[in-house]
Amino acid sequence: MIVDQVFLYNLVTSAVAVIERSEYKQIKSCEFVDPDLLRMAMENGFVVPAEEDEIEKVLAIQRMNNYSTRFAGFQILPTTACNARCFYCYEQSYKAVCMKDAVAKAIPSFIESYMGMVDNVHVTWFGGEPMLEIDRIYELSNQIIDMSEKHGIGYTSDIITNATLATADVVRLLVHDCRVSQAQVTLDGLAEEHLRRKAYISKDVTFDSVLLAMDAFVEQGAKLLIRLNIDRRNYRDCLNLIPLLGERYKGLDTVMLYAAPLYGSGNQEDFFTEDDLSEIYKSVFYAMIDAGFIQTVDGLPLNFNNATCSAQMINNFVIDPSGDVFKCEHLLTEGRQRIGNVFEGVLFNEAMVEWASPNIPAKCRKCVFLPSCQAGCYAAETLNFGLKRCPHIAFITDAIVDAAGYLLGCKSHIDRSF
Ligand code: SF4
Ligand code: SF4
Repeated sequence: MIVDQVFLYNLVTSAVAVIERSEYKQIKSCEFVDPDLLRMAMENGFVVPAEEDEIEKVLAIQRMNNYSTRFAGFQILPTTACNARCFYCYEQSYKAVCMKDAVAKAIPSFIESYMGMVDNVHVTWFGGEPMLEIDRIYELSNQIIDMSEKHGIGYTSDIITNATLATADVVRLLVHDCRVSQAQVTLDGLAEEHLRRKAYISKDVTFDSVLLAMDAFVEQGAKLLIRLNIDRRNYRDCLNLIPLLGERYKGLDTVMLYAAPLYGSGNQEDFFTEDDLSEIYKSVFYAMIDAGFIQTVDGLPLNFNNATCSAQMINNFVIDPSGDVFKCEHLLTEGRQRIGNVFEGVLFNEAMVEWASPNIPAKCRKCVFLPSCQAGCYAAETLNFGLKRCPHIAFITDAIVDAAGYLLGCKSHIDRSF
Protein backbone atom coordinates (compact mmCIF):
# COMPACT_ATOMS: atom_id res chain seq x y z
CA MET A 1 0.00 0.00 0.00
CA ILE A 2 1.24 3.50 -0.84
CA VAL A 3 1.44 5.58 2.33
CA ASP A 4 1.55 9.34 2.64
CA GLN A 5 2.03 10.06 -1.00
CA VAL A 6 0.36 12.85 -2.88
CA PHE A 7 -1.64 12.50 -6.07
CA LEU A 8 -1.33 15.56 -8.29
CA TYR A 9 -3.57 16.21 -11.23
CA ASN A 10 -3.22 19.06 -13.68
CA LEU A 11 -6.31 20.06 -15.61
CA VAL A 12 -4.43 21.96 -18.29
CA THR A 13 -1.88 19.29 -19.22
CA SER A 14 -3.89 16.27 -17.96
CA ALA A 15 -0.66 15.21 -16.24
CA VAL A 16 -0.88 12.89 -13.25
CA ALA A 17 1.84 12.44 -10.67
CA VAL A 18 2.15 10.49 -7.45
CA ILE A 19 4.86 12.09 -5.36
CA GLU A 20 6.24 12.13 -1.82
CA ARG A 21 4.81 14.62 0.63
CA SER A 22 8.20 16.36 0.87
CA GLU A 23 8.15 16.86 -2.91
CA TYR A 24 4.61 18.17 -2.75
CA LYS A 25 5.70 20.77 -0.20
CA GLN A 26 8.38 22.00 -2.62
CA ILE A 27 5.89 22.28 -5.48
CA LYS A 28 3.28 23.98 -3.36
CA SER A 29 5.71 26.53 -1.96
CA CYS A 30 7.60 26.83 -5.25
CA GLU A 31 10.83 26.47 -3.33
CA PHE A 32 12.81 23.64 -4.86
CA VAL A 33 15.80 21.82 -3.39
CA ASP A 34 15.57 19.12 -6.08
CA PRO A 35 16.23 20.40 -9.66
CA ASP A 36 14.80 17.19 -11.20
CA LEU A 37 11.55 17.78 -9.35
CA LEU A 38 11.42 21.38 -10.63
CA ARG A 39 11.95 20.11 -14.18
CA MET A 40 9.19 17.48 -13.80
CA ALA A 41 6.84 20.05 -12.27
CA MET A 42 7.41 22.49 -15.13
CA GLU A 43 7.18 19.87 -17.86
CA ASN A 44 3.82 18.73 -16.54
CA GLY A 45 2.38 22.14 -15.83
CA PHE A 46 2.36 21.89 -12.03
CA VAL A 47 4.59 24.95 -12.01
CA VAL A 48 4.35 27.63 -14.69
CA PRO A 49 6.39 30.79 -15.29
CA ALA A 50 4.96 33.75 -13.37
CA GLU A 51 4.36 35.68 -16.61
CA GLU A 52 2.28 32.90 -18.21
CA ASP A 53 -1.45 33.61 -18.43
CA GLU A 54 -2.87 30.09 -18.24
CA ILE A 55 -6.49 31.19 -18.60
CA GLU A 56 -5.85 32.99 -21.87
CA LYS A 57 -3.75 30.02 -23.01
CA VAL A 58 -6.65 27.63 -22.40
CA LEU A 59 -9.05 29.96 -24.21
CA ALA A 60 -6.60 30.38 -27.10
CA ILE A 61 -6.32 26.58 -27.50
CA GLN A 62 -10.11 26.40 -27.44
CA ARG A 63 -10.38 29.05 -30.16
CA MET A 64 -7.75 27.30 -32.30
CA ASN A 65 -9.71 24.09 -32.03
CA ASN A 66 -13.04 25.77 -32.70
CA TYR A 67 -11.75 27.57 -35.79
CA SER A 68 -9.83 24.57 -37.09
CA THR A 69 -10.36 23.79 -40.73
CA ARG A 70 -9.12 20.24 -40.32
CA PHE A 71 -12.57 18.97 -39.60
CA ALA A 72 -16.25 19.47 -40.44
CA GLY A 73 -18.93 17.68 -38.43
CA PHE A 74 -22.58 17.12 -39.35
CA GLN A 75 -25.14 15.73 -36.96
CA ILE A 76 -27.95 14.50 -39.16
CA LEU A 77 -31.45 13.71 -37.87
CA PRO A 78 -33.15 11.55 -40.53
CA THR A 79 -36.21 11.59 -38.28
CA THR A 80 -37.48 12.96 -34.99
CA ALA A 81 -39.78 9.93 -34.61
CA CYS A 82 -38.82 7.35 -32.02
CA ASN A 83 -39.95 3.87 -31.10
CA ALA A 84 -39.25 4.46 -27.41
CA ARG A 85 -40.96 6.88 -25.04
CA CYS A 86 -38.36 7.80 -22.42
CA PHE A 87 -40.05 10.07 -19.89
CA TYR A 88 -36.98 12.30 -19.68
CA CYS A 89 -36.39 12.90 -23.40
CA TYR A 90 -36.00 16.56 -24.32
CA GLU A 91 -37.47 15.79 -27.75
CA GLN A 92 -40.85 14.77 -26.34
CA SER A 93 -42.43 18.02 -27.47
CA TYR A 94 -41.02 17.66 -30.99
CA LYS A 95 -43.34 16.75 -33.83
CA ALA A 96 -42.38 13.38 -35.34
CA VAL A 97 -41.05 14.31 -38.77
CA CYS A 98 -39.19 12.14 -41.27
CA MET A 99 -36.78 13.56 -43.79
CA LYS A 100 -38.26 14.04 -47.25
CA ASP A 101 -36.49 13.09 -50.48
CA ALA A 102 -35.87 16.72 -51.48
CA VAL A 103 -34.00 17.39 -48.21
CA ALA A 104 -31.97 14.18 -48.50
CA LYS A 105 -31.07 15.12 -52.06
CA ALA A 106 -29.68 18.49 -50.94
CA ILE A 107 -27.62 17.20 -47.99
CA PRO A 108 -24.64 15.71 -49.90
CA SER A 109 -24.06 18.96 -51.83
CA PHE A 110 -24.37 20.98 -48.61
CA ILE A 111 -21.74 18.77 -46.98
CA GLU A 112 -19.58 18.76 -50.11
CA SER A 113 -19.39 22.55 -49.97
CA TYR A 114 -17.16 22.09 -46.88
CA MET A 115 -14.98 19.37 -48.35
CA GLY A 116 -12.66 21.75 -50.16
CA MET A 117 -11.54 23.34 -46.89
CA VAL A 118 -11.22 20.44 -44.44
CA ASP A 119 -9.21 17.22 -44.08
CA ASN A 120 -11.95 15.14 -42.49
CA VAL A 121 -15.72 14.97 -42.46
CA HIS A 122 -17.58 13.34 -39.60
CA VAL A 123 -21.27 12.46 -39.58
CA THR A 124 -23.25 11.62 -36.45
CA TRP A 125 -26.61 9.90 -37.01
CA PHE A 126 -29.09 11.07 -34.43
CA GLY A 127 -32.85 11.31 -34.04
CA GLY A 128 -35.47 10.45 -32.78
CA GLU A 129 -34.31 6.95 -33.43
CA PRO A 130 -32.13 7.23 -36.56
CA MET A 131 -32.41 3.54 -37.44
CA LEU A 132 -36.10 4.03 -38.20
CA GLU A 133 -34.70 5.57 -41.37
CA ILE A 134 -31.96 3.06 -42.08
CA ASP A 135 -32.45 3.30 -45.86
CA ARG A 136 -31.88 7.04 -45.65
CA ILE A 137 -28.71 6.52 -43.60
CA TYR A 138 -27.45 4.00 -46.15
CA GLU A 139 -28.20 6.21 -49.14
CA LEU A 140 -26.71 9.38 -47.61
CA SER A 141 -23.66 7.59 -46.22
CA ASN A 142 -22.80 6.18 -49.61
CA GLN A 143 -23.11 9.54 -51.32
CA ILE A 144 -21.08 11.40 -48.68
CA ILE A 145 -18.41 8.68 -48.61
CA ASP A 146 -18.10 8.83 -52.41
CA MET A 147 -17.72 12.61 -52.27
CA SER A 148 -15.12 12.49 -49.52
CA GLU A 149 -13.11 9.98 -51.57
CA LYS A 150 -13.37 12.20 -54.62
CA HIS A 151 -12.02 15.10 -52.54
CA GLY A 152 -9.32 12.90 -50.98
CA ILE A 153 -10.43 13.58 -47.42
CA GLY A 154 -11.24 11.31 -44.50
CA TYR A 155 -14.75 10.21 -43.55
CA THR A 156 -15.83 8.90 -40.16
CA SER A 157 -19.22 8.35 -38.61
CA ASP A 158 -20.99 7.38 -35.42
CA ILE A 159 -24.57 6.78 -34.35
CA ILE A 160 -26.59 7.59 -31.25
CA THR A 161 -29.26 4.92 -31.09
CA ASN A 162 -31.49 3.00 -28.71
CA ALA A 163 -30.29 -0.17 -30.54
CA THR A 164 -33.78 -1.65 -30.76
CA LEU A 165 -33.61 -2.01 -34.54
CA ALA A 166 -29.99 -3.08 -34.72
CA THR A 167 -30.21 -6.62 -36.04
CA ALA A 168 -26.94 -8.30 -36.96
CA ASP A 169 -27.53 -7.53 -40.67
CA VAL A 170 -28.32 -3.87 -40.03
CA VAL A 171 -25.26 -3.46 -37.81
CA ARG A 172 -23.10 -5.09 -40.51
CA LEU A 173 -24.45 -2.62 -43.05
CA LEU A 174 -23.89 0.34 -40.73
CA VAL A 175 -20.35 -0.61 -39.76
CA HIS A 176 -19.06 -1.80 -43.13
CA ASP A 177 -21.11 0.06 -45.75
CA CYS A 178 -21.85 3.26 -43.82
CA ARG A 179 -18.53 3.30 -41.93
CA VAL A 180 -20.17 3.83 -38.55
CA SER A 181 -17.29 3.23 -36.17
CA GLN A 182 -19.04 3.96 -32.87
CA ALA A 183 -22.52 3.43 -31.46
CA GLN A 184 -23.74 5.19 -28.33
CA VAL A 185 -26.51 3.33 -26.55
CA THR A 186 -28.24 4.35 -23.33
CA LEU A 187 -29.25 1.88 -20.64
CA ASP A 188 -31.52 2.96 -17.81
CA GLY A 189 -31.00 0.12 -15.34
CA LEU A 190 -31.53 -3.62 -15.15
CA ALA A 191 -34.16 -5.24 -17.38
CA GLU A 192 -37.34 -4.23 -15.54
CA GLU A 193 -36.35 -0.64 -14.83
CA HIS A 194 -34.84 -0.17 -18.27
CA LEU A 195 -38.02 -1.34 -19.99
CA ARG A 196 -40.19 0.77 -17.68
CA ARG A 197 -38.23 3.91 -18.50
CA LYS A 198 -37.84 3.29 -22.21
CA ALA A 199 -41.50 2.32 -22.68
CA TYR A 200 -40.82 0.86 -26.14
CA ILE A 201 -43.77 0.98 -28.48
CA SER A 202 -43.17 -2.61 -29.59
CA LYS A 203 -43.49 -5.32 -26.96
CA ASP A 204 -40.99 -7.38 -29.00
CA VAL A 205 -38.13 -5.26 -27.70
CA THR A 206 -36.58 -6.79 -24.61
CA PHE A 207 -33.60 -5.87 -22.49
CA ASP A 208 -31.78 -8.91 -23.88
CA SER A 209 -32.50 -7.91 -27.47
CA VAL A 210 -30.94 -4.51 -26.78
CA LEU A 211 -27.87 -6.15 -25.23
CA LEU A 212 -27.56 -8.48 -28.23
CA ALA A 213 -27.71 -5.48 -30.56
CA MET A 214 -24.95 -3.83 -28.54
CA ASP A 215 -22.92 -7.04 -28.87
CA ALA A 216 -23.45 -6.93 -32.63
CA PHE A 217 -21.69 -3.54 -32.85
CA VAL A 218 -18.77 -4.91 -30.84
CA GLU A 219 -18.58 -8.08 -32.95
CA GLN A 220 -18.49 -6.04 -36.15
CA GLY A 221 -15.53 -4.05 -34.82
CA ALA A 222 -17.28 -0.80 -33.87
CA LYS A 223 -16.72 0.95 -30.58
CA LEU A 224 -19.59 0.80 -28.14
CA LEU A 225 -20.20 3.72 -25.78
CA ILE A 226 -22.73 2.81 -23.11
CA ARG A 227 -24.39 5.69 -21.29
CA LEU A 228 -26.18 5.14 -18.00
CA ASN A 229 -28.74 7.83 -17.25
CA ILE A 230 -28.93 7.95 -13.47
CA ASP A 231 -31.34 9.52 -11.03
CA ARG A 232 -32.39 8.67 -7.46
CA ARG A 233 -34.75 5.91 -8.59
CA ASN A 234 -32.50 3.88 -10.90
CA TYR A 235 -29.11 4.61 -9.40
CA ARG A 236 -28.89 1.34 -7.41
CA ASP A 237 -30.09 -0.57 -10.43
CA CYS A 238 -27.34 0.99 -12.53
CA LEU A 239 -24.76 0.14 -9.87
CA ASN A 240 -25.88 -3.49 -10.16
CA LEU A 241 -25.77 -3.32 -13.94
CA ILE A 242 -22.14 -2.14 -14.11
CA PRO A 243 -20.54 -5.48 -13.02
CA LEU A 244 -22.80 -7.38 -15.43
CA LEU A 245 -21.63 -5.18 -18.29
CA GLY A 246 -18.04 -5.57 -17.07
CA GLU A 247 -18.41 -9.34 -17.26
CA ARG A 248 -20.10 -9.20 -20.67
CA TYR A 249 -17.41 -7.02 -22.24
CA LYS A 250 -14.42 -8.23 -20.25
CA GLY A 251 -11.06 -7.39 -21.81
CA LEU A 252 -12.59 -5.32 -24.62
CA ASP A 253 -11.14 -1.83 -24.77
CA THR A 254 -13.61 -0.95 -27.53
CA VAL A 255 -16.43 -0.84 -25.00
CA MET A 256 -16.68 2.27 -22.85
CA LEU A 257 -19.11 3.18 -20.14
CA TYR A 258 -20.10 6.42 -18.49
CA ALA A 259 -22.85 7.61 -16.21
CA ALA A 260 -24.68 10.89 -16.71
CA PRO A 261 -27.01 12.47 -14.17
CA LEU A 262 -30.51 12.56 -15.59
CA TYR A 263 -32.38 15.81 -16.12
CA GLY A 264 -35.30 16.71 -18.28
CA SER A 265 -38.98 16.26 -17.90
CA GLY A 266 -40.10 13.98 -15.12
CA ASN A 267 -40.26 14.29 -11.38
CA GLN A 268 -37.65 16.92 -10.47
CA GLU A 269 -37.33 15.46 -6.98
CA ASP A 270 -35.89 12.30 -8.49
CA PHE A 271 -32.99 14.18 -10.02
CA PHE A 272 -29.70 14.55 -8.17
CA THR A 273 -28.71 17.97 -6.95
CA GLU A 274 -25.19 19.38 -7.23
CA ASP A 275 -24.62 18.44 -3.57
CA ASP A 276 -25.54 14.78 -4.12
CA LEU A 277 -23.28 14.10 -7.03
CA SER A 278 -19.89 13.50 -5.43
CA GLU A 279 -21.25 10.84 -3.08
CA ILE A 280 -23.15 9.15 -5.90
CA TYR A 281 -20.18 9.15 -8.25
CA LYS A 282 -17.92 7.62 -5.61
CA SER A 283 -19.99 4.44 -5.85
CA VAL A 284 -20.25 4.70 -9.62
CA PHE A 285 -16.48 5.01 -10.03
CA TYR A 286 -15.77 2.16 -7.60
CA ALA A 287 -18.16 -0.08 -9.53
CA MET A 288 -16.60 0.96 -12.85
CA ILE A 289 -13.08 0.30 -11.55
CA ASP A 290 -14.09 -3.11 -10.17
CA ALA A 291 -15.79 -3.97 -13.47
CA GLY A 292 -12.68 -3.02 -15.49
CA PHE A 293 -14.16 0.02 -17.24
CA ILE A 294 -11.72 2.37 -15.51
CA GLN A 295 -8.24 0.92 -15.28
CA THR A 296 -6.02 3.96 -14.76
CA VAL A 297 -6.48 7.51 -13.53
CA ASP A 298 -6.61 8.59 -17.18
CA GLY A 299 -10.01 6.91 -17.30
CA LEU A 300 -11.40 9.39 -14.78
CA PRO A 301 -13.31 12.30 -16.29
CA LEU A 302 -11.13 15.29 -15.56
CA ASN A 303 -8.95 15.73 -18.60
CA PHE A 304 -8.29 18.79 -20.71
CA ASN A 305 -11.20 18.63 -23.09
CA ASN A 306 -10.87 20.52 -26.27
CA ALA A 307 -14.23 19.68 -27.73
CA THR A 308 -16.79 19.93 -24.98
CA CYS A 309 -19.28 21.98 -26.96
CA SER A 310 -19.43 20.92 -30.58
CA ALA A 311 -21.69 23.89 -31.39
CA GLN A 312 -18.77 26.25 -30.86
CA MET A 313 -16.75 24.56 -33.59
CA ILE A 314 -17.14 26.76 -36.63
CA ASN A 315 -17.66 23.85 -39.05
CA ASN A 316 -20.01 21.78 -36.94
CA PHE A 317 -23.70 21.67 -37.81
CA VAL A 318 -26.93 19.96 -36.91
CA ILE A 319 -29.30 19.17 -39.78
CA ASP A 320 -32.90 18.49 -38.80
CA PRO A 321 -35.32 16.41 -40.91
CA SER A 322 -36.71 19.53 -42.62
CA GLY A 323 -33.21 20.48 -43.78
CA ASP A 324 -32.87 23.40 -41.38
CA VAL A 325 -29.38 23.86 -40.00
CA PHE A 326 -28.54 24.66 -36.37
CA LYS A 327 -25.42 24.63 -34.23
CA CYS A 328 -26.76 22.74 -31.21
CA GLU A 329 -29.10 19.74 -31.15
CA HIS A 330 -30.77 21.02 -27.99
CA LEU A 331 -31.93 24.23 -29.64
CA LEU A 332 -33.90 22.94 -32.64
CA THR A 333 -37.16 24.48 -31.45
CA GLU A 334 -35.59 27.91 -30.93
CA GLY A 335 -36.37 29.73 -34.18
CA ARG A 336 -33.65 32.31 -33.70
CA GLN A 337 -31.05 29.52 -33.45
CA ARG A 338 -31.61 28.47 -37.06
CA ILE A 339 -28.56 29.43 -39.08
CA GLY A 340 -29.67 28.29 -42.53
CA ASN A 341 -30.77 25.25 -44.46
CA VAL A 342 -29.27 22.61 -46.70
CA PHE A 343 -30.72 24.22 -49.83
CA GLU A 344 -29.27 27.71 -49.43
CA GLY A 345 -26.39 27.10 -47.04
CA VAL A 346 -25.42 28.76 -43.78
CA LEU A 347 -25.93 32.42 -43.02
CA PHE A 348 -23.63 34.35 -40.77
CA ASN A 349 -26.71 35.56 -38.90
CA GLU A 350 -26.98 36.66 -35.27
CA ALA A 351 -27.00 33.10 -33.90
CA MET A 352 -24.00 32.07 -35.99
CA VAL A 353 -22.10 35.19 -34.92
CA GLU A 354 -22.76 34.38 -31.27
CA TRP A 355 -21.56 30.78 -31.69
CA ALA A 356 -18.48 31.94 -33.59
CA SER A 357 -17.49 34.30 -30.77
CA PRO A 358 -19.01 32.82 -27.65
CA ASN A 359 -19.10 34.87 -24.52
CA ILE A 360 -16.93 33.40 -21.76
CA PRO A 361 -18.69 34.29 -18.47
CA ALA A 362 -16.56 35.97 -15.81
CA LYS A 363 -17.22 33.07 -13.41
CA CYS A 364 -15.64 30.65 -15.92
CA ARG A 365 -12.48 32.72 -16.18
CA LYS A 366 -12.01 32.24 -12.45
CA CYS A 367 -12.96 28.56 -12.40
CA VAL A 368 -10.46 25.70 -12.06
CA PHE A 369 -12.60 23.52 -14.32
CA LEU A 370 -12.25 25.79 -17.35
CA PRO A 371 -9.67 23.54 -19.14
CA SER A 372 -11.92 20.57 -18.73
CA CYS A 373 -15.35 22.06 -19.37
CA GLN A 374 -14.39 24.95 -21.70
CA ALA A 375 -17.05 27.23 -20.22
CA GLY A 376 -19.82 24.67 -20.16
CA CYS A 377 -23.14 24.39 -21.93
CA TYR A 378 -24.87 27.46 -23.31
CA ALA A 379 -28.02 25.48 -24.15
CA ALA A 380 -28.45 24.14 -20.61
CA GLU A 381 -28.07 27.64 -19.22
CA THR A 382 -30.40 29.23 -21.77
CA LEU A 383 -33.09 26.55 -21.55
CA ASN A 384 -32.57 26.21 -17.81
CA PHE A 385 -32.10 22.45 -17.69
CA GLY A 386 -29.76 20.20 -15.76
CA LEU A 387 -27.05 21.87 -13.75
CA LYS A 388 -27.30 24.91 -16.04
CA ARG A 389 -23.99 25.92 -17.57
CA CYS A 390 -21.72 23.79 -15.37
CA PRO A 391 -21.25 20.11 -16.28
CA HIS A 392 -21.55 17.46 -13.59
CA ILE A 393 -17.76 16.99 -13.47
CA ALA A 394 -17.58 20.34 -11.66
CA PHE A 395 -19.34 18.74 -8.69
CA ILE A 396 -17.60 15.39 -8.43
CA THR A 397 -14.01 16.28 -7.59
CA ASP A 398 -14.18 14.40 -4.29
CA ALA A 399 -15.37 11.30 -6.11
CA ILE A 400 -12.62 11.58 -8.73
CA VAL A 401 -9.90 11.99 -6.12
CA ASP A 402 -11.38 9.16 -4.11
CA ALA A 403 -11.43 6.93 -7.18
CA ALA A 404 -7.85 7.90 -8.01
CA GLY A 405 -6.90 6.86 -4.47
CA TYR A 406 -8.69 3.55 -4.97
CA LEU A 407 -6.88 2.95 -8.27
CA LEU A 408 -3.52 3.84 -6.78
CA GLY A 409 -4.11 1.90 -3.60
CA CYS A 410 -3.94 4.88 -1.28
CA LYS A 411 -6.32 6.81 0.96
CA SER A 412 -7.35 10.15 -0.40
CA HIS A 413 -7.55 13.60 1.07
CA ILE A 414 -8.12 16.71 -1.00
CA ASP A 415 -5.94 19.77 -0.56
CA ARG A 416 -8.01 22.54 -2.10
CA SER A 417 -5.52 25.24 -1.26
CA PHE A 418 -3.34 24.49 -4.26
S1 SF4 B 1 -17.59 24.50 -14.27
FE1 SF4 B 1 -19.11 26.09 -14.57
S2 SF4 B 1 -18.10 28.00 -13.87
FE2 SF4 B 1 -16.52 26.44 -14.18
S3 SF4 B 1 -15.75 26.81 -16.25
FE3 SF4 B 1 -17.35 25.23 -16.36
S4 SF4 B 1 -19.25 26.34 -16.78
FE4 SF4 B 1 -17.76 27.84 -16.09
S1 SF4 C 1 -24.56 24.21 -26.13
FE1 SF4 C 1 -24.58 22.48 -24.72
S2 SF4 C 1 -25.93 20.94 -25.66
FE2 SF4 C 1 -25.37 22.44 -27.25
S3 SF4 C 1 -23.59 21.55 -28.27
FE3 SF4 C 1 -22.83 22.93 -26.69
S4 SF4 C 1 -22.51 21.62 -24.88
FE4 SF4 C 1 -23.83 20.48 -26.33
